[in-house]
Amino acid sequence: EEEGKTRRDQVVTLQDHVIEQMPEYIKQGLFQNINERVWPISRNIPIREVEDRLFDLIQPFVRNGQIELIPENLHEQSECLIKGNFDILVGADGSNSFVRRYCNIQMISEGLEYACGVAYNIPNNIPSSEEPLHQALNCILTASQTRYLVNSSTSRRGYLNIRLIQDEYKELQNRLEIFQSHNEPLDLLDFNKCPQSPIWTIIRQGLQFFKISPKYVFRVIPIEINVRHASIVVRELRHEIDKNEKQTPNEYDEKKYKTTLAFLVGDAAMCVHFWPGRGMNSGMKGAIALARNILRSCTINNSINIRRPLRFLNFLDYEGFMARLRAREQQGRSLRVLIDPIDKSVEASYSYA
Ligand SMILES: Cc1cc2nc3c(=O)[nH]c(=O)nc-3n(C[C@H](O)[C@H](O)[C@H](O)COP(=O)(O)OP(=O)(O)OC[C@H]3O[C@@H](n4cnc5c(N)ncnc54)[C@H](O)[C@@H]3O)c2cc1C
Repeated sequence: EEEGKTRRDQVVTLQDHVIEQMPEYIKQGLFQNINERVWPISRNIPIREVEDRLFDLIQPFVRNGQIELIPENLHEQSECLIKGNFDILVGADGSNSFVRRYCNIQMISEGLEYACGVAYNIPNNIPSSEEPLHQALNCILTASQTRYLVNSSTSRRGYLNIRLIQDEYKELQNRLEIFQSHNEPLDLLDFNKCPQSPIWTIIRQGLQFFKISPKYVFRVIPIEINVRHASIVVRELRHEIDKNEKQTPNEYDEKKYKTTLAFLVGDAAMCVHFWPGRGMNSGMKGAIALARNILRSCTINNSINIRRPLRFLNFLDYEGFMARLRAREQQGRSLRVLIDPIDKSVEASYSYA
């Protein structure tokens, strides 16, 4: 639950060219509550809002029976996995994907970096001296250096993200463990519990840089950025058929197995560096590409026509799309950040201080 709150509070920038690919119905509904342009060609929106709006938007299809929602954690013993009573399994279950492990798909790591996220929520009725900066200033300050990044909704709710070197990250982990073991809330104004150590100083300096009062900070989380990708994103699965449950004897008489297909999408398929802000954008692009491939493979003249068993070869387009997306986002963006680490500048700044 805690992991969910942390994840959903994060504000992301959704690129216009990704939004353009969505159906009109989704485009209209997604931004009906929060439609905020901060950077020139994207919109800022909390993950919570993206998920809640998409959930609302599928309700008509739930009501007419086209979609059935099953609120459960998928695991090895889930009935549908044991019986294989599905055609397609889509693993959109994040960077620690269960589906990926279930399919025995290996991850290839390009490198590690460290960061922390400082969550804040600035209420509306506060003294003018505590009013946050205009979003335009947040953009200029974010683009002017490579240590701090603010992603917020209306400047009031969001995260100050800070790149850390490994020692700073370890210090943060140790200090947060003490708060957790005492079950105490974090209070950056309490210098006894958050003294002038490297990590608390870096956080306070970042807040000061963006003129965010420490009293509005409610959570600090360590973030390990493992830039990595799945070796494949389409896998054929074979399920042993329980003879008593055979429903179509002709198809299975000679065989003991049924073949289904599993796909990886989003962070389950690829984790990029958050600095260029493309993780959710890539996830959405992958989801759209997969949906189009499913549509091509499973319909004829607008009617559903699933040629069982579905084969890996029917989804080469998706595998190819994800390879190109990976080249663009990892080689083209994330690795450029990774090959230019902050370590030397941080060490120099410590000796200067
Ligand atoms: C600091 C930071 C800043 C970022 N900024 C940006 C940005 O500006 N722009 C951008 O595009 N991206 C950004 N990202 C990346 C973006 O947040 C992620 O790429 C995106 O949220 C991944 O979405 P996802 O749905 O693939 O995975 P997740 O968001 O991790 O969702 C996975 C879901 O699967 C569920 N789940 C997990 N296991 C199971 C199971 N066994 N059974 C059932 N359900 C399960 C989880 O509960 C969760 O709901 C940022 C990330 C970070 C850390």
